[in-house]
Amino acid sequence: CPCGALTSNSSSIQEVWAAIRDPKKTVICQIAPAPRAALGEEFGLGSVDVTKKIVAALRKVGFDKVFDTVFTADMTTIEESNEFLGRLVKGENLPLFTSCCPGWVKYAEQFHPDLLNNLSSCRSPQQMFGSLLKKKYAKDLGVAPEDLFVVSIMPCTAKKYEAKRPEFMTEGSYDIDAVLTTVEAARLFREAGIIFSNLEDSEFDQPMQQGTGSGVIFGATGGVMESVVRYVAGKLLNAEGRVDVEFTRGMEDTKIASLEVGDNKLTLAIVNGLAAAEALIQKIKSGELTVHAVEVMACPGGCVGGGGQPFQNDGEHRLARSKEIYNIDAKLELHKAQDNEDLDKIFEKYWNGCCNHETHHDLHTHYQPRKRIAGNEIVIKEGEGPEIT
Ligand code: SF4
Repeated sequence: CPCGALTSNSSSIQEVWAAIRDPKKTVICQIAPAPRAALGEEFGLGSVDVTKKIVAALRKVGFDKVFDTVFTADMTTIEESNEFLGRLVKGENLPLFTSCCPGWVKYAEQFHPDLLNNLSSCRSPQQMFGSLLKKKYAKDLGVAPEDLFVVSIMPCTAKKYEAKRPEFMTEGSYDIDAVLTTVEAARLFREAGIIFSNLEDSEFDQPMQQGTGSGVIFGATGGVMESVVRYVAGKLLNAEGRVDVEFTRGMEDTKIASLEVGDNKLTLAIVNGLAAAEALIQKIKSGELTVHAVEVMACPGGCVGGGGQPFQNDGEHRLARSKEIYNIDAKLELHKAQDNEDLDKIFEKYWNGCCNHETHHDLHTHYQPRKRIAGNEIVIKEGEGPEIT
């Protein structure tokens, strides 16, 4: 595992309780797409959508605000799609590789530093929300960034590592203060004595309440690519309503297809699992395969199969969660990121619109080569990049 996630046993539950009990802190939680189709398994409900019960449980636990990471998944789609279109026009840094999976990003930094310019510069949805909350929303609340305690519920142990990357800070305070995996969130609810299955549904808070199906499907392999295609097709073809892309779906570890979008013929690849990613990269580097964009997720099945999801985390459970993610998408009113009106307002209010110099500063990032250790031999220049911890 490239980021130490498999050996991580650090839980932030006590930190979260301490923040909730601290009268100085305003405590906010965001919920990633994948846990909503898996957390119910911890309470005997199966792989069903429990989003509104999670919101209700978080309110009972004592969170001041609860937001949906789907909101910033839509934000990621808009920033990343425009970055992709810009690269297509210039013909540079292609293929574009997605960057919302920290396991993949660290793998690329260690093993493929020559590809770092090809990674999307977009922060992940978790980190976009953290930046938005600490750099902008905190001021609206009249709270200093260090007194805003931001918690994420993620399917992922690698997100704990991502949250502590030094580039993701505001005025000396981490943009994300604590990450709870899906399993840890269930433990938090048990510690609070909550009978999860009896909870009444509760809604996310304003003003970042809306989320589209496009953001929800980030939770399954192929979802980020499908979101980008929905956005690009909507933009280039003025397509209204649903834009469904079938090839992106399914649990195969590698999916490749060519699509015609307006005047563009795009070849797109989706891989889940780093072995599949490595095989695809070798084909691209050897010239055997030419693609325009690649979605990489380190976990089998994408985030539905993340290391922080409930056990059993086998193929059957991953498939059931993935189906539920697409059921949620099908039931939602909005399906393309550009249809999220709350997001339009937030882009306008905080950054004078999207995809500009200001959003680049707050919502994008950079990558750096890291030392690679093969056996005991350091094969990338010593001193390049931070120490591996
Ligand atoms: Fe985390 Fe796995 Fe999702 Fe990557 S694919 S973001 S490592 S859960």
